[in-house]
Amino acid sequence: MPVLVMKFGGTSVADLARIENAAQKVKAEVARGYDVIVIVSAMSGETNKMVGFVEGTSKLYDAREYDAVVSSGENVTAGLMALRLQEMDIPARSWQGWQVPINTTSAHSSARFVSIPRDNIEAKFKEGFKVAVVAGFQGVSAEGRITTLGRGGSDTTAVAFAAAFDAERCDIYTDVDGIYTTDPRITSKARKLDRIAFEEMLELASLGAKVLQTRSVELAMRYKVRLRVLSSFEETDENSGTLVCDEDELMESKVVSGVAYSRDEAKMTLVTVEDRPGVASAIFGPLAEAGVNVDMIVQNISEKDVGDRTVAVTDMTFSCPVNQVARAQKAMEEARASGVISYDDLVVDTEVAKVSVVGIGMRSHAGVAAKMFAALSKENVNIKVIGTSEIKISVLIDRKYMELAVQALHDAFGLEKA
Ligand code: ADP
Ligand code: ASP
Ligand code: MG
Repeated sequence: MPVLVMKFGGTSVADLARIENAAQKVKAEVARGYDVIVIVSAMSGETNKMVGFVEGTSKLYDAREYDAVVSSGENVTAGLMALRLQEMDIPARSWQGWQVPINTTSAHSSARFVSIPRDNIEAKFKEGFKVAVVAGFQGVSAEGRITTLGRGGSDTTAVAFAAAFDAERCDIYTDVDGIYTTDPRITSKARKLDRIAFEEMLELASLGAKVLQTRSVELAMRYKVRLRVLSSFEETDENSGTLVCDEDELMESKVVSGVAYSRDEAKMTLVTVEDRPGVASAIFGPLAEAGVNVDMIVQNISEKDVGDRTVAVTDMTFSCPVNQVARAQKAMEEARASGVISYDDLVVDTEVAKVSVVGIGMRSHAGVAAKMFAALSKENVNIKVIGTSEIKISVLIDRKYMELAVQALHDAFGLEKA
């Protein structure tokens, strides 16, 4: 039997009625002749609630126990989905990560897949089961501890199963009917795309578009999984939603195909750092060791008078997620105290956001940056830091202008029109 993977996110399984609605979609695919692997998220809000429980219990919590707690929401929805399908006379059972087993690394709360053996689930399909309902987001380490894959990780579970079982397709059912030119919650002008290239979706996801977890796009690209995003609340058929595909399968080509944002960024500047070989390494080494995910970096060279001569100094600015600021500050203060680096001041701005435009057409088009900066300037949005790659341009701006900036860029690049 051909295998289909269907993933239902938190809002799609938020209560019993929605689980039933999702089960109807599964039933329709079983009727089409598929063996279905259903990946479920926790009911919406549950994972956040559990993260709160952990943080309320222990400040410097044991990451293994964090995973044991926050993975539990998926166990509930997997069992409930299996029960609902059984009520519809569809032979189904639930699988927790360790039962499959979904083998992962031991990097708790950001574990990666090591292997997903097919044997146990295939044996059940051979026995006549039509559906395997698998708890998303979780796995088991070599030490036998429960692991999780990072927030939004059920998307990645789904793609990994699609790859492991050579599924015909991996359908990600969610609360929007596809991938849009930008988050439809930010502007009603956002337009649904029929297709998007893996590379573009990878950038959009890593720049903040949480419709797919970044890692899921990476895996789909590597294992050539046919990945589709579609609505769990609407009637859907084989043409619904947005297909994430290879570049050469695209129908339309635009210079910019989407705008992404990441709200919770921080900007930190080390003021008057001595400018000498090795200084960047002396700064970013300790930050990496402290687990700070540094994103954009800017260095401004200047000079400083010391007595009768001037020395070269630099201001080093970098951005990181706002919830890592305390860790970054601690790492820098320790590096200064131990004489690894010297600086006059550490200036922290926790009120910034990152807005990015993405498109593979940028590779062969000049002027995208100029157009982006002109659009922001017209709205009087000040740019604090700029970062570019082959297919994206990102700017760091005051968080209060984030939505305005997304809308302005969406307009400037004509994204509302096909
Ligand atoms: P789920 O719980 O189903 O995993 P998520 O909340 O993780 O759903 O992802 C879906 C949400 O992603 C949408 O509700 C939407 O607000 C947001 N989103 C951000 N960027 C985009 C985009 N470019 N296209 C569609 N949705 C987007
Ligand atoms: N429940 C997990 C989360 O909220 C995983 C997921 O929904 O994909 O992050
Ligand atoms: Mg999600």
